[in-house]
Amino acid sequence: MAPLLEVEDLRVEFGRGPETASVLNGVSYHVDEGETLAVLGESGSGKSVTAQTVMGILDLPPGRITGGAVRFRGEELLGADPERRRLLRGESMAMIFQDALSALNPVYTVGFQIAEQFRFRRGLSRRDATARAVEMLDQVRIPNAKQRVKEYPHQFSGGMRQRAMIAMSLALDPELLIADEPTTALDVTVQAQIMDLLDELRRERGMGLVLITHDLGVVAEVADRIAVMYAGRVVEHADAATLYARPGHPYTRGLMDSVPRVDDVAGAPLRPIPGLPPSLAAIPDGCPFHPRCAHAVDRCVTEVPALRELGGDHQAACHFAERFVAEGTDRPTTHEVVSG
Ligand code: SF4
Repeated sequence: MAPLLEVEDLRVEFGRGPETASVLNGVSYHVDEGETLAVLGESGSGKSVTAQTVMGILDLPPGRITGGAVRFRGEELLGADPERRRLLRGESMAMIFQDALSALNPVYTVGFQIAEQFRFRRGLSRRDATARAVEMLDQVRIPNAKQRVKEYPHQFSGGMRQRAMIAMSLALDPELLIADEPTTALDVTVQAQIMDLLDELRRERGMGLVLITHDLGVVAEVADRIAVMYAGRVVEHADAATLYARPGHPYTRGLMDSVPRVDDVAGAPLRPIPGLPPSLAAIPDGCPFHPRCAHAVDRCVTEVPALRELGGDHQAACHFAERFVAEGTDRPTTHEVVSG
């Protein structure tokens, strides 16, 4: 059976001539029904551009899709009729964004914005659509939903606004939800509540969830599988337990090492990844990670590493991935700590 969502060798560029930025350089991943795929990486790695291309909301131009495929239940979406794409959005796939305050329209009440979908996509009357909006706010645990449905986004706290966004995105019962850094703008306690809510709604509805994040703690709690992106490519992919225990790419290992942990010795220095992600207009030759990699050798400077099969569903784009997998991690993993 075809995966719910399949992204294959997706390539996107911005700009022209010497100014061309290769933002996606052959991104591939898939999501099955009812599972959570976490897409992990620093800013600029291509996580959000991939999601926007999947949703059909990437600005074209200035963006240019130069290759690849995006299939939803086997149906090719790239080049599909815009009306078909519009119908799929909301009904079959939905997206929530990092900053709910910018995503919600400040001049309409939260209830109006949720009810709009029931009115225009389901043909409900204003009264019935508002009743459904109240139900949706109830489902995302907004207290006193009957009253809050009449309020404007600025009257909601950050966490409540994100809940309202989730309610809006799930109103038409989509099969796939893409959550783009849904907790970044929230404090830690509210982050945990939002992630618990998303996970619960995913299980209840059997929905596929693509969770875009740079937060390894969030990923450890909810992800079934993880795709790590760097410079517009997936550089490692595995189920969550395997990736945390035996990362095959030094970048993945670097992301893990740079997170402070409860079992660290007091005062122990953090171990950040040196340097910065490359400019997408000037991606280094060879392995794009080589200027930052402590394990780089001459070969890494000239030869682009292929995605190597490491057993099971584990792949990593490093010439020495087998060696790193065999070494494993040198301390208890975040995944082990979180899952107890
Ligand atoms: Fe580091 Fe070389 Fe592996 Fe790239 S291929 S991650 S530079 S060791």
